[in-house]
Amino acid sequence: MFYDVVIVGGGPAGSSAACSMAKSGLSVLLIDKSEFPRDKCCGDGLTTMALRLSEELGLNIENLKNLEVVNEAVIHFPSGKREIFPLPKKGMFAAIVPRAEYDLALIDLARELMVDVRLGLKFSSINFDEEKTFLNIEGMGEVETSFVIAADGAWSPVRRSLDLGEEQPRGEWLAFRQYISGVSSGSNDLHVWFEKDLLPGYAWSFPLPNGKANVGFGVLKSQHSSASETAQLARELFNRKSISETLGSDIKLEGRQTAWPIPARINSQQLTNRSVIFVGDAAASTDILTGEGIGQALLTGILAGEAIKSGGNQKTVTSLYEKSVKGHLLADHRMSVALQKVLAHPAGAENALRLASLNQWSRRNFARWMFEDYPRALLFTPKRWKKGVFDSEGAYNRKLDL
Ligand SMILES: Cc1cc2nc3c(=O)[nH]c(=O)nc-3n(C[C@H](O)[C@H](O)[C@H](O)COP(=O)(O)OP(=O)(O)OC[C@H]3O[C@@H](n4cnc5c(N)ncnc54)[C@H](O)[C@@H]3O)c2cc1C
Repeated sequence: MFYDVVIVGGGPAGSSAACSMAKSGLSVLLIDKSEFPRDKCCGDGLTTMALRLSEELGLNIENLKNLEVVNEAVIHFPSGKREIFPLPKKGMFAAIVPRAEYDLALIDLARELMVDVRLGLKFSSINFDEEKTFLNIEGMGEVETSFVIAADGAWSPVRRSLDLGEEQPRGEWLAFRQYISGVSSGSNDLHVWFEKDLLPGYAWSFPLPNGKANVGFGVLKSQHSSASETAQLARELFNRKSISETLGSDIKLEGRQTAWPIPARINSQQLTNRSVIFVGDAAASTDILTGEGIGQALLTGILAGEAIKSGGNQKTVTSLYEKSVKGHLLADHRMSVALQKVLAHPAGAENALRLASLNQWSRRNFARWMFEDYPRALLFTPKRWKKGVFDSEGAYNRKLDL
């Protein structure tokens, strides 16, 4: 069996790649080892970038049952002070939706666009000859292709099977997530806690409908290297005074507790190998400052699709992809690394947040920047300035009455 492109992984990176190549005339197969809906350990937070790209792909996000649109963020400073950071009202700038639901909607969209989507099929190995690539897929057998898009997440089995000689850890961050219910009414806002011992990491509570929320924390592996230390932090998360006081005493833990690595090294990660293009977490494209990776997964998926659609040979396509990823994400990664050093110390984090909360204008712009309305390093990369970039609408503005 031959396909022009095989996509391994049906998260946001794989689905966006599939959708971006639909109607191009290319034969595209997307496989995922899981049946959908499937859970993904995540904060479920969609940034402005993720929302805008979802809209561009044609996703009707307003149809999702458990979508919660966010209009402001409550930020808890290391000192315990709390401030509200409002988002603009023209369109959607941030939203929460369980990944089980969001990822299924993207998969359904790819199907509607006539992509051959096959779930419950696991990639097991890859081989190459001069011109073609052969994938072994459990439950399907051998598939021949011209390009492979590896959208198979932080542990990327495709990456590991290529034996690229990498010894880096799979994630710069380790993050933990727990769903809860029974959040007291009036408290179910979006909260971010910059707790002294977690810095430059943070804890969050992201609101979901009906008093539910997604609660978790992310820490830098270099500072909390042992798994037992992180497990201890997870056990004690709901005993933290600032968190328990905010969420109220009636909360109940729902479903499983999970932890997962967050890879964030787009500056050093190998992005392609022969016919293979890595996207999303497999390309370590997550933002190192915040751990937000859904927007980056969508973006790299789309860039991979566009590079393949350009119609060049393997070398042209892979170098076009690498160039466009670097153009979009490298300056922002450098900026995030620099800011992370500031946030790593309680005094640095406190001062930065106090500066950001100086007045209504600075609060709104900090919130927009935090939720990726504009790229991290935009101020320092004037070639990306375009008309209206600093006061553009959020996503889905024409469809939603917010
Ligand atoms: C606790 C936590 C909280 C987070 N919170 C946020 C947040 O609020 N906002 C945000 O933007 N980002 C967040 N992130 C990051 C975000 O979850 C990831 O960046 C994003 O999921 C990456 O998408 P992806 O498509 O690359 O990979 P994934 O979503 O991981 O998808 C990979 C897919 O590959 C499939 N797969 C794996 N192996 C195989 C195989 N052998 N064969 C076939 N299929 C395979 C898997 O089943 C999976 O469906 C968080 C991460 C963590 C860990």
